Amino acid sequence: MVLLLFGPPGCGKGTQARMVSSWLGIPAISTGDLLRAEVEARTALGITAAEIMETGGLVGDGLVNAMLIRRVEHSDCARGFLLDGFPRTVAQAGFLDGYLASRQLPPGRIIYLDVERQTLVDRMSARRQCPVCGKIYNLLHQPPRAKGVCDNDGTVLIRRKDDHQSIIRQRLKEYDELTGPVLDHYRGPRVHSVDGDQPAERVFEDIAGAIQWAPEREPSSAA
Ligand code: AMP
Repeated sequence: MVLLLFGPPGCGKGTQARMVSSWLGIPAISTGDLLRAEVEARTALGITAAEIMETGGLVGDGLVNAMLIRRVEHSDCARGFLLDGFPRTVAQAGFLDGYLASRQLPPGRIIYLDVERQTLVDRMSARRQCPVCGKIYNLLHQPPRAKGVCDNDGTVLIRRKDDHQSIIRQRLKEYDELTGPVLDHYRGPRVHSVDGDQPAERVFEDIAGAIQWAPEREPSSAA
């Protein structure tokens, strides 16, 4: 199964990606995380991406497409995978469609997390993340047990550079202009819309329900 978790920045894709991935036993691949790892490792891609990411823009389609393919060709993706934050442009969506067809994999199914604009801004402003295990917290609704440190490993939580007000606005603008139209590209029975403005467990139940209600017909040739 190939699942695409789709929605504006701050809609809860990262949190749900982890929950759905452990439920289905398929890897969750976040292009944002892959890019942040490239930035951290100071690769050529990372150096190019860093400046764009800091200003809330989108990294070029060619670079992101190539990076994604390198990741999904790993053996852990043979039974399927979940994408968080990809595709983010209509060009990326067309590229992914072509890639899945060429591998005789089923076309992706889209889970759209619907969340109101002001809620997105509030969530991103209050978001903190563990730089070691990646767990995401929200200071308002899902704070860590001990102030400022990760429940899992005690690491000091960080605020992503792009979770500051002016950058948040730019990311939402990029979403409206470039990423929103991806939903039109996929419009049809493969899109499951879920109310993302609920506690994480409820959102997860709705996603699981949507997947179970409309089970996918896996082609026999699918890996
Ligand atoms: P995210 O962690 O998904 O919010 O992504 C953080 C940032 O990484 C975005 O604001 C973009 O700058 C970049 N990024 C992530 N995924 C993509 C993508 N599919 N295409 C272009 N840029 C991306």
